[in-house]
Amino acid sequence: MRGRTPGDPPGQDGDHRTETGERGAFALARCSCGWAGPARRARDRARADAEAHSGAPPTD
Ligand SMILES: [Zn+2]
Repeated sequence: MRGRTPGDPPGQDGDHRTETGERGAFALARCSCGWAGPARRARDRARADAEAHSGAPPTD
């Protein structure tokens, strides 16, 4: 799978555990499967990205 960095704990198969994080002035969504959403200026947008990806609200 692309986007996974060595040392990251593996996600469970079929499990998408999303969370939102910040990068500089931007917020972005991330998932345990290695997916990451685009950088957003608003945290709410990053949350929406995460929800759209996993189908569930992100844990925060
Ligand atoms: Zn995922």
